[in-house]
Amino acid sequence: MLKGKVAIVTGGTRGIGFEVVRKYLANGAKVVLFGSRQETVDAALKKLKEENGAWEAEGKCPKLTDAAQVERAVLEVKEKYGRIDILVNNAGISQSTPLYSYTAEEFDRVIDLNVKAVFYAILPAAAVMKEQGGGCIINTSSMVSISGQAAGVGYPTSKFAVNGLTISLARELGKDNIRVNAVAPGVTKTDMVAALPKEVVERISKGIPLQRAGEPEEVANAFLYLASDLASYVTGEILSVDGASRA
Ligand code: NAD
Repeated sequence: MLKGKVAIVTGGTRGIGFEVVRKYLANGAKVVLFGSRQETVDAALKKLKEENGAWEAEGKCPKLTDAAQVERAVLEVKEKYGRIDILVNNAGISQSTPLYSYTAEEFDRVIDLNVKAVFYAILPAAAVMKEQGGGCIINTSSMVSISGQAAGVGYPTSKFAVNGLTISLARELGKDNIRVNAVAPGVTKTDMVAALPKEVVERISKGIPLQRAGEPEEVANAFLYLASDLASYVTGEILSVDGASRA
């Protein structure tokens, strides 16, 4: 489905991002994953090589909250592969701090990675895509971008912003043949959810119409669809993959 395409996936070392990288490689793309530390990037690449030695994957560690570092890393991908067809902004942090314990620094930390870093990666990647005649950007939102969240207000705020960025840029960049979409996962079995109290996860899972948390691979399938030509007329969409949790 992605033969010959070149993709960047941020936060591609584990969880949903890692499954997106696997899915893209298995469907013929060349993938550059951006991770936060060289050790985790190397471990992810080793795992992928063991699974299939023919897959073309490499990793980089730009500081995602540093616009200049991100620009450099994106342009290195363009220099090496000649193009960038897909940008997946997946790296993100969540927290559930109650408002009265919140600090300004904590709010900034969430917004810096979940919102500003998304913008920093889009800026150089969209310019490359425009020049080559098109491309596709997929951001990672969340079900809390629809329902909000009863603690840790920085996180849902950041995902509402991701939706705004996605829908607005879909409108702005359509004329350049750049599609911009987001995937909004529900509770998905990754380290992010493992970090939540068990009773919270159980309570949320019971309330999901499909009665269970999602698997990272089920979320990655949506990233595959949106990156593929099957979604050639889909842009400005926030695609929920959440077992109808938001309903
Ligand atoms: P995860 O914690 O397993 O993975 C997060 C990824 O982001 C990792 O690859 C990590 O290295 C990267 N990352 C974190 N901080 C970083 C930093 N400062 N710089 C660079 N990379 C950094 O979580 P996940 O569940 O796979 O989350 C992936 C995305 O999905 C996030 O944007 C998250 O908000 C979103 N999401 C997850 C869930 C869920 O239930 N797991 C639900 C909705 C949305």
